[in-house]
Amino acid sequence: MGEILEIKKYAKENHVPIMQDEGIAFLCDYIRTHSVKRVLEIGTAIGYSAIMFASTSPDVEVVTIERDETLFKEALVNIQKMKLEDRIQVVFEDALTANITGKFDLIFIDAAKSQYQKFFLKYQENLADDGVIVTDNLSFHGMVEHPELTQNRNTRQLIHKIQDYIEFLKNLEDYETTFYSLGDGVSVTKKKPKN
Ligand code: SAM
Repeated sequence: MGEILEIKKYAKENHVPIMQDEGIAFLCDYIRTHSVKRVLEIGTAIGYSAIMFASTSPDVEVVTIERDETLFKEALVNIQKMKLEDRIQVVFEDALTANITGKFDLIFIDAAKSQYQKFFLKYQENLADDGVIVTDNLSFHGMVEHPELTQNRNTRQLIHKIQDYIEFLKNLEDYETTFYSLGDGVSVTKKKPKN
């Protein structure tokens, strides 16, 4: 696990945002207990969460999308170091235009927060019937619940976008969402059973 600590250290030193410990523990636990086999991740960064997901079991395969070339390359290096290149495919593309085929048991949205709704709408067709779409950062450092914590105009706009996304999730007719106030705020959305 020394390599994982190195990746976390690199992320901290280079200001690369990666999942918080509580959020990653929750997701890895979910993958184990629900026998998740195929994960699609929107937002690789340097491969930390993809590596953690793939490390839960030799049966887990991850496809992960990253649009930033420097981060993409760093992710490839980290994944090779962990000898996980057979089970983690990193797609270097904008997730809004990428063409991903196949179905996934878990789709993890962890990219540009202003685009969450677009990611959800685009990738729902890749969701297996009993799969889940998980979204991170719905609390955004507590500012979604308390917008008064910031006066920054851009941050406020982002907070509004996240609030809109939360409302969007709550109002989806074909899905039900559970919100968890762990890590930076995580939601788990699943298809409602068909009658
Ligand atoms: N999941 C990673 C982890 O926990 O290790 C962290 C991902 S980081 C919070 C978000 C990443 O999404 C950034 O590296 C950013 O470049 C990428 N990103 C943002 N918008 C994107 C898009 N439209 N397509 C692909 N990647 C995107």
